[in-house]
Amino acid sequence: MKKVALVFVLAVFVPSLVLAWLAVRSLRDQQFLLERQQSLLYQGIADGKAKDIQDILAEDQRAFTAKVAALLSDNNSMEIAKTFDDLLRKDWPLAEVGFVVTATGDILAPSPYARPEARLFCADNGRFLGNRESVEVYWNPKQLLNPSGANTFANNSFANNSTANLLSQSSSLSANDANAEYSKRYGFSSKGQQARNVIPQQQQSVYPQKSGAADENQQQLSKIAASEAEFRQLIGEDSEGALARFVDNKLNVLFWYRPSSPVSKASGKMASAAAQQQSETQLIFGAQLSLAHLKEDLRPLTQQVEPALRDEICLALLDDTAKPMTLSHPDFRANWKRPFVATEIGETLPHWEIAVYLLDPAKLTRSAHTLKLTLGLLITVLVLAIGVGSWLIVTDLNRQLTLARQKTDFVSNVSHELKTPLTSIRMFSELLAEGRVLEPAKQRSYLAIITAEAARLTRLINNVLDFARIERGEKKYQFQRADLSALVRETADTYRPHLEANGFQFECDVPEAPVWVNGDRDALAQVLVNLLSNAEKYSDHGKEIVLQVRQQTAPLPHVEVKVLDRGLGVPGGSEEKIFEKFYRAHDSLSSGIQGSGLGLTLARQIAQAHGGEVVYEPRDGGGSCFSLRLPVLTSEQPGTTKT
Ligand code: ADP
Repeated sequence: MKKVALVFVLAVFVPSLVLAWLAVRSLRDQQFLLERQQSLLYQGIADGKAKDIQDILAEDQRAFTAKVAALLSDNNSMEIAKTFDDLLRKDWPLAEVGFVVTATGDILAPSPYARPEARLFCADNGRFLGNRESVEVYWNPKQLLNPSGANTFANNSFANNSTANLLSQSSSLSANDANAEYSKRYGFSSKGQQARNVIPQQQQSVYPQKSGAADENQQQLSKIAASEAEFRQLIGEDSEGALARFVDNKLNVLFWYRPSSPVSKASGKMASAAAQQQSETQLIFGAQLSLAHLKEDLRPLTQQVEPALRDEICLALLDDTAKPMTLSHPDFRANWKRPFVATEIGETLPHWEIAVYLLDPAKLTRSAHTLKLTLGLLITVLVLAIGVGSWLIVTDLNRQLTLARQKTDFVSNVSHELKTPLTSIRMFSELLAEGRVLEPAKQRSYLAIITAEAARLTRLINNVLDFARIERGEKKYQFQRADLSALVRETADTYRPHLEANGFQFECDVPEAPVWVNGDRDALAQVLVNLLSNAEKYSDHGKEIVLQVRQQTAPLPHVEVKVLDRGLGVPGGSEEKIFEKFYRAHDSLSSGIQGSGLGLTLARQIAQAHGGEVVYEPRDGGGSCFSLRLPVLTSEQPGTTKT
């Protein structure tokens, strides 16, 4: 039993508990996992939108270059320089101001007197474009990043926190690294990283990070840094580019383009002198973008949200003060500085971000709670099922083990019960056969013993055989109308000599009038003999047995045959168990009383087959009282003859 229990505990119970514990542990991480999944999804969306905006800006820059090239193809560059502001704005509405500046820093256009915007532009940018002032600029050194000169913003990896960039950082140079290198080469002083205007609630890396103050700080630092430079330093030998700078906290985005001049055929000193002169007279055409116009261009992009996510998130394009420029849900309001996730757009629009807000932030917590609850319930049901299953298995195991032990006891008890009468029979029959007992009284006594022991043997064997038949469902009863009073009297008369010979005071209280029952006479006699035999066996010193027959009316008319003794009584707690097969309340070892544990089982089974019952109750004043209850027939009712 111990071994089985140990195997059960090790093979089933402990692994189940470990599994349950692991499941409970995983419950705690559900919200975190859900948030992470969502943040990855929404981060991807924000990254995608930021890249789309970069593509639009790259496209705008290409359009600007094409416009300038088209203007120059028809006219002399010096001629159009003066009217460039007007020409460009007429042709290209994204331009707020068109400017032309010579390599030596003379601003040919716009004229500060032409209009207020031009005046403001000259005031803001005149010194910077004239190379008389170093200012903080955000720019994108394309030549360094893209030596092939491919004019694509998209390829010039902006230093945002996007998933794609995180993954590609190992293989490509980030814009920050590029800025730093360029600054070193050209002697710019580079400003350090700034804090971002927004604080995304979710960490943006695809790799799980331990939450901590250090990570959070790093998380909130902008990857876009400004460098301090003069315009000439900044453009170097490049033919085109874009830069952004803040003037009085207002963002100025400038595109510039330097048309290439025809290559001189002269050689040597002459050629280099010509080139020098040419580069000094070379013009740089530029445009300051109209942010209002740009905002309108970008609006459709930010308003597009996948239909499946429209009820989940709001997309916003935030400017450098974290003010929403465009919103996918115009009525949505939130703390704009605390988006769920956000991605910086890049150097051309420094500190502008694409931010994603949850329309119903509590929904995530609710989903996590529902998930937790469902999983919690599942785990509880699982643990309960394991517990109940274990209990059932253990109970059944116990029952089987008890039954196995009882069967072993039964075999040894029956063998012993067979051996004891056989020994007596053999001994007394040998004495008689050898003629060693000559006194007739003794001879009669020995013969009586032999008869009694043979009867005991028969009873035992009958019990065992009947039990086997009942177990197999093969027991057959010969039901007939029978007088129970007469049957009890006959059985008592048969048993009386044996009891009295053993010193018992035996009282038989049976009414004279017949009591009719529908029953198998032999089977009922077997019940009575079993009860009388038990009363004799478990009587100890109180050798008094009473056999009573009483007609009862409640709850239904029935007859009750009682066998009362003054013996050991049934120990408390075993009152019902004594009717189970092989069960013995007084086992042979402790009480020294032989038995098979089948007598009462059979008695009850026979009684039940007759529509009756056998019950036990302690007898007043000590001892036991076993009652056989049977339904009675009226005087006219015939007995059934079924078997
Ligand atoms: P057994 O062969 O052991 O007597 P039974 O089925 O006849 O088997 O009885 C089952 C158990 O009930 C006995 O082992 C005994 O402990 C208890 N029992 C039966 N009759 C009596 C009685 N008259 N007084 C006390 N205990 C009894």
